[in-house]
Amino acid sequence: MQTYHTLAEWRDYRRRLAAGLTLGFVPTMGSLHAGHLQLVRRARAENALVVVSIFVNPTQFGETEDFECYPRDLARDLEALHGLADVVFCPTADMIYPLGSSTCVEVAGISDMLLGAIRPGHFRGVATVVTKFLNLIQADRAYFGLKDYQQLQSIRRLVADLFMPTEIIALPTVREPDGLAMSSRNQRLSASERAAAVIIPKALEYAKVSTLSDPDRFEEAVRAFLAREPLAQVASVDVRDADTLEEISPMTKCAVLLLAVRFGTVLLIDQAELFLG
Ligand code: AMP
Repeated sequence: MQTYHTLAEWRDYRRRLAAGLTLGFVPTMGSLHAGHLQLVRRARAENALVVVSIFVNPTQFGETEDFECYPRDLARDLEALHGLADVVFCPTADMIYPLGSSTCVEVAGISDMLLGAIRPGHFRGVATVVTKFLNLIQADRAYFGLKDYQQLQSIRRLVADLFMPTEIIALPTVREPDGLAMSSRNQRLSASERAAAVIIPKALEYAKVSTLSDPDRFEEAVRAFLAREPLAQVASVDVRDADTLEEISPMTKCAVLLLAVRFGTVLLIDQAELFLG
């Protein structure tokens, strides 16, 4: 396994790759867990070579958000990737955003709604960094988690809109034994917050067996379910069309429930596809 810290090293490797070898790419912010490793294993199974990037992207964090205290442990991440990845690419912020760089990518519509309204500028940062990495890596396939559903949909949109040749592949959420979605941010929960956070998967289960005829009442019922947990501060509960993320309509084929819930200072998100009854 090679570890590259500079764009020049990566570009040199990419230039020397034999034509016809497929490349799978898994972008991450590090602090790897089984959710990330599932993406890497799938990339391993489907491609000749696997590249994982580790980059905590400053532009997707708001001023009051957790960029500084976002967990980082490169040595542990490299150990986890040993035998799974061919290349780990971990550039610095100065390399990805060199002095004078001024181009941003904005997926209009998707980026300001839902989690974008709670985290202004977040999706512009995500779209910009993902565009930079997809351009640098030139992968055949790139792998993303369904947990970050709005992120996934905005990446699908930008790849289509900008005619990028990389195929986007989405994989289901890997969960802790009690159902909480694995997330690097879970480490920042206190013991009581961690115990309380199980209300999120419970609310998803509750929603999955409820009937969705009136979206407003449905969202209200999910909010009330989450409110049973005193440590849960509900940031948003939304039922949307799974393809467009617009409000559901008679055209909706598949709906998705998107949750964002704070425990102390930690914002956790999760999602579930819903049966349209
Ligand atoms: P992050 O390091 O949080 O930026 O995540 C990198 C990728 O891993 C994104 O595509 C996430 O959606 C995905 N991911 C994060 N957590 C999980 C999980 N629990 N299950 C599946 N994929 C995940």
